[in-house]
Amino acid sequence: MKDTPKHQGLRKKLINQLIEKGIRSKEILTVINKIPRHFFIDKDFESHAYIDKAFPIGSEQTISQPYTVAFQTSLLELKENEKVLEIGTGSGYQTAILIELKAKVYTIERQHHLFRKAKKNLPLLGYYPEIIKYGDGYLGLKEHAPFDKILITAGAVEIPKKLLLQLKIGGVMIIPVGNNTQKMTHVLRTGENKYQKKIFGEFSFVPMLKNKN
Ligand code: SAH
Repeated sequence: MKDTPKHQGLRKKLINQLIEKGIRSKEILTVINKIPRHFFIDKDFESHAYIDKAFPIGSEQTISQPYTVAFQTSLLELKENEKVLEIGTGSGYQTAILIELKAKVYTIERQHHLFRKAKKNLPLLGYYPEIIKYGDGYLGLKEHAPFDKILITAGAVEIPKKLLLQLKIGGVMIIPVGNNTQKMTHVLRTGENKYQKKIFGEFSFVPMLKNKN
C-alpha cells in the first residue's frame, strides 16, 4: 500500500471540509491528516477513502464517516496516556486515531472477520493497541477497568450498565443512543452511582449487536 501525493492532497481537502463542518481541535485534524484512511478500506475502493462518508468494510459493517470520527474523538477530550475502551474496532481506523493521540487503547470487535483483519493490519501500520479482543462489547473488559474514557462506535438502544461501571469516577463515555438514528450522548461519571448526561446531535450508526444475533 502506498500513500501518494494524490492521497495526501485528498486528505487536505477532507480536512478543510471537517473544519467547515465545525471540527476545531488542531490535534485531531493533524492526526486525520496524517493517517492514510485508504489503508483501512478495501484496495479496490480506495478512491472512496477521502469522501466524508461511511463506507462498507464487510460483515455488513462500515468504517465510520470521518466527520463522525472527528466529532466523537473531540467529545472524548483525550489526554496523553489515558486508558480508552473502544467498542467496535471495525476497520481499526478510529483505533489508530486514538493511538496517534497517545491513548492506551483497549478495543473490542464482535465480528470475527473484522477482528482478524484489524488485529493484523494495525501493527503492520505501526499501531499497537494494548488489547484487541474478539468478543461482546456489552461486557466491556472488567479485568482492565476502570477506564478514563469509553467510546462506542455502534448505535446502542440504551446505555449498557456494565460499561458505565467500568468508567473511572470523573471519566467520560461517548455513546450514540437510539434505534434508527442515534443521539450522541456524553456521559460523565461524577460519583459511585452518579452520572451526568449531555446530548450532542443526531447521527446514524450501524447497531451495537447483542451476543451472536
Ligand atoms: N470504529 C469503526 C466503526 C465500525 S462500525 C471504524 O471506524 O471502522 C461499528 C462496529 O461495531 C462494527 O465493526 C461492528 O461489528 C461492531 N460491533 C457491533 N456490536 C458490537 C458489540 N456488541 N461488541 C463489539 N463490537 C460490536
